[in-house]
Amino acid sequence: MPVHSTEAIVIGGHDLAEADRIVVFYTQLSGKVRAAAEGARRIRTRFGGSLQLFTRGRLVYFERPTKTLHRVNEFGVIRSHHALREDLDRMVLASMAVEAVALGVEEAEAFPDLYRLLADGLELLEEAAHPGVVLQGFLLHLLRLLGYLPELHVCVRCRKEIPPHHGASLSPAAGGLICEGCRANTPDVIPASTAVLGFLRGASGSTLRVMDRISVLPQVFQEVTGVLQAFLRHVLGRSLRSSDFLARL
Ligand SMILES: [Zn+2]
Repeated sequence: MPVHSTEAIVIGGHDLAEADRIVVFYTQLSGKVRAAAEGARRIRTRFGGSLQLFTRGRLVYFERPTKTLHRVNEFGVIRSHHALREDLDRMVLASMAVEAVALGVEEAEAFPDLYRLLADGLELLEEAAHPGVVLQGFLLHLLRLLGYLPELHVCVRCRKEIPPHHGASLSPAAGGLICEGCRANTPDVIPASTAVLGFLRGASGSTLRVMDRISVLPQVFQEVTGVLQAFLRHVLGRSLRSSDFLARL
């Protein structure tokens, strides 16, 4: 069996029988990888509780070439991100980040820019003053990397420019802005205020660290969340389970 070594982030997993666990990693060199960690749930295990959600580490795994489930050999922690698991709000936000990545990619497709975005995103979600705004920036950048950044400057139907002080509508199915004139013929439009459009335009060109310094009115924050969830639902095929959880808090 070929052995691989790569930096990786734990983005999911579930328990198997006999104290084993299947762990889903997002790896720097091979994209999404699923691997069995034998004995991971025993008290004395060579993994020592390292395989927890959000943890970034150096993964060594055996590839089973004809199978999609590989085998974890070792996982050395680089960043535990335990603070993300101990704060309920941050845990939900980080869960949305890893769930969106897990849903948005196929297995075994290397995508180093996405790995970097996820690693940076989890760092900032742990330490940010405004983790909710950081997550919004993360989700916009994720849409961009997946090739689905909403068009935010011209109407996607007639290409008419939408000036900064104009509100408009957004259509996830059409891929972005819809002007007043095209609105009646577009089925799934969401109204987008001037403030929401301004936020989305600014955020799509800003680093996550800059996002943490932006102050956003609660009303705008809610509207942006609704817009991002609608676009993600369209791109990923379903809504994020962790966002349902957030709505119930
Ligand atoms: Zn139009």
